[in-house]
Amino acid sequence: MRLFFLAAILLLSHTIIAQRTYIHCGQLIDVKSSKQLPSMTIIVEDNKIVDVQKGYIMPASGNTVIDLKKLTVMPGLIDMHVHLESETGPNNYLNAFTYNPADYAFQSVVFAEKTLMSGFTAVRDLGGTNVNIALRNAINKGWVVGPRVYTAGKSLASTGGHADPTNNYRKDLMGDPGPREGVVNSVDDAAKAVRQRYKDGADLIKITATGGVLSMAKDGSGAQFSIEEIKAIVQTANDYGFKVAAHAHGAEGMKRAVLGGVHSIEHGSYMSEEVMDLMKEKGTYLVPTIVAGKSTADSAKKPGYYPDIVKAKALVIGNFIQGTFAKAYKRGVKIAFGTDAGVYAHGKNWLEFQYMTEVGMPILEAIKCATVNAADLLGDNNIGSIEKGKLADIIAVDGNPEQDVTSMGRVQFVMKGGKIFKQ
Ligand SMILES: [Zn+2]
Repeated sequence: MRLFFLAAILLLSHTIIAQRTYIHCGQLIDVKSSKQLPSMTIIVEDNKIVDVQKGYIMPASGNTVIDLKKLTVMPGLIDMHVHLESETGPNNYLNAFTYNPADYAFQSVVFAEKTLMSGFTAVRDLGGTNVNIALRNAINKGWVVGPRVYTAGKSLASTGGHADPTNNYRKDLMGDPGPREGVVNSVDDAAKAVRQRYKDGADLIKITATGGVLSMAKDGSGAQFSIEEIKAIVQTANDYGFKVAAHAHGAEGMKRAVLGGVHSIEHGSYMSEEVMDLMKEKGTYLVPTIVAGKSTADSAKKPGYYPDIVKAKALVIGNFIQGTFAKAYKRGVKIAFGTDAGVYAHGKNWLEFQYMTEVGMPILEAIKCATVNAADLLGDNNIGSIEKGKLADIIAVDGNPEQDVTSMGRVQFVMKGGKIFKQ
């Protein structure tokens, strides 16, 4: 009996002490209905949203009020395609020979903080050197500031493929990297490479289903895996609850990836109508990365910025993505927001919203791609909307995105898991 009273008192005192934060929103974007709601209050306790109410609710004393009445409030944005370890620059290819893992680690801390401060409270890191796994852990422990990171660790490729780490090296340096380094040339290798990613601590799998622009290899768009290899990757990934993202520029590689069961096609540059219809049938997402395409095409015009072998591809492929995105969207392909940050300067992720709206997607739909759809593709239903029970990932921008898309680049407030990082 005495114990019962003690428990009751403890419970009561917790209820009284629990601190709540009342966020007063000028406009609140309801991402599920694609509507803006004026004069709303979000109530946050610990790391979660406990209520959303109409009007400006004033709390009892002892609680905090945050005044965002002049701002537009929305869920924390999610970028489904970033590379937090690196950033574009004319010396990038040399870094592979001069950087130690610690150099990548220190610079990734800077990029992670920039990303969070620009309103992106969660990202999918689609390939690096495994420093991205350590970065995720350091953010989760609170050692460094950054978004929630879901990482693929090291991407998977076939020999000479887009993510073969020794492309174009001198023969004695080239060696023969295998599944441990993410290079796959059979069904057996495929399973082994996925299991190694699991052992490394990745959250998902990234494959390079076709050639790519920035690798030191001639081909930018041809298929680079057999469908049997892709199926083996997807099946093994399923054993660990991993989703599979497929980088792809050419239609044949995309078709194999979609038939093989991947969950998203990244870039999609030369996507055919046949592939679009297959994606609709299978529920595969397109993650467009328009900003990366435009930015690589621009950088390719600067003398000496890329090696010649890369320059030739960047000038051609980069400009295709926006048009393909517009076609795929109009045809009804599911879209999740992604930018390939790192291929252009970190922190400018919002530019993708400008490019998406430029070719006909309403801004509230584009924001839905970066919240609801992204959370769906991640398979994480704790984030992606401002609703009771969700994690308190909340941002606010200066201005109204429906009237001015550049307001997405003016993030004034960032909360991740109930903690304020920018105000
Ligand atoms: Zn990428």
